[in-house]
Amino acid sequence: MAKGKVEPRIFKGTRDLLPETMRLRNRVIGTLRAVFEAYGFEPLETPAFEFYDILTGKSGEEADHLLFPLAYQDGRTLALRYDLTVPLSRVVAMYGKSMAFPFRRYQIQPVWRAEKPQKGRYREFLQCDVDIVGTPAMAADAEILLLASEAMERLGLEGFTAALNHRMIIDGLYERFDVDEKDRIFVSRTLDKIDKVGRDEVRRMLVEGEAGATLDACVADGLLDVLEKADLDAVEEQVRSTNAGARGVTEVREILEMVRVSDTAGRAVRYAPSLMRGLDYYTGPVFEMVVEKPRIGSLGGGGRYDGLVGLFSGEDVPATGFSFGVERLVDALQESRPPGLDARALRAAEILVTVFSPELRPNALAAAQAFRAADLRAELYLGASRKLKKQFDYANKKNIPVVAVIGPDEAAQGAVTLKWMDAGEQETLPLASAPARAKEKL
Ligand code: AMP
Repeated sequence: MAKGKVEPRIFKGTRDLLPETMRLRNRVIGTLRAVFEAYGFEPLETPAFEFYDILTGKSGEEADHLLFPLAYQDGRTLALRYDLTVPLSRVVAMYGKSMAFPFRRYQIQPVWRAEKPQKGRYREFLQCDVDIVGTPAMAADAEILLLASEAMERLGLEGFTAALNHRMIIDGLYERFDVDEKDRIFVSRTLDKIDKVGRDEVRRMLVEGEAGATLDACVADGLLDVLEKADLDAVEEQVRSTNAGARGVTEVREILEMVRVSDTAGRAVRYAPSLMRGLDYYTGPVFEMVVEKPRIGSLGGGGRYDGLVGLFSGEDVPATGFSFGVERLVDALQESRPPGLDARALRAAEILVTVFSPELRPNALAAAQAFRAADLRAELYLGASRKLKKQFDYANKKNIPVVAVIGPDEAAQGAVTLKWMDAGEQETLPLASAPARAKEKL
């Protein structure tokens, strides 16, 4: 080993994204961006790090353990952002006066969380968020669910469910079952695990006090019975007498009614009474996008957070939104491989323009330019080999489906030979008509 060599390595939970992953990832991001823009959302970016107290603002303890703190030399502490919702709320508080409300923004940026990495859980990951700020109308929440379902469909992911619950229904249930206010957060976190560990284990944790709060066995059973039914009418029976619960049920009904304008969303959106969502800032409807396989947690999640902007602006500003995690979408796509997302569809170049000899390099360059001008992705061969066979091998290795050759005969006639790697067929035609022909057959 050379003296002084530094062992190349990266921190667990962070990743180098090599071209093969990047291609699929860029496809995912491009699709999401197109859907976001189709719904009229505007782009926004914010700094990777913020003042510590901005980030801990509301979630307090919750955010605290997620943060990577950064000490600045002047003694102030900053931290890497752990989501895009808190920075958005700060932005609205700072620039709201010049914004038109309701404000719809999308934001595609990395976030960092000091969590223990595992399958589908990274310490650095890319979130793609959409939020609507400035309206309490459930139509905004319905739009978010329509958008999220459409994004899944356009990505080619099948068998997804957009789970929908409401924080006020949960509050209504707690009120109804006399769960102490201080215990609710612990109970919610435990109930959220039903899908993962099963009802019996959740009951045991609640009754034995392992959750951070202890419930009477009959309260735990009562709660679990209601949640397990997954039926809005049954839940309504329980919570109708509470203000919060009654309002929650009405709002969920409104949303379910509205998303029916789309077949996709109408099928995907389902009331899920045991969905709790981690962060404390949610105040109304909450959402989560899940697929059966792979089991990597939610692909996206969100909800209404009517108090968060006010934390920075001092005024009540209602808001709702959704966040897709790109890593998990990519993992899900890699597993299900819908058509159109195989290595060939995701190749970088569509045509390799070979170089027959150094003298003919200008002709190859001109041909590459002609393909590019026609919106084809063309790579000029830059390797050392002068043998065409080697250049063809290179094209195969890179999954490039068409190879262009300009030898002395072609050069003399202003022509190019196109070879289709799969079929092994080739044809010689005037350079001027080659791009159109390539496009036709690609
Ligand atoms: P959250 O901000 O926790 O509501 O998460 C929203 C979405 O971000 C989730 O549905 C995931 O797709 C993604 N996500 C959350 N935490 C992680 C993580 N540690 N690694 C990768 N993706 C994550």
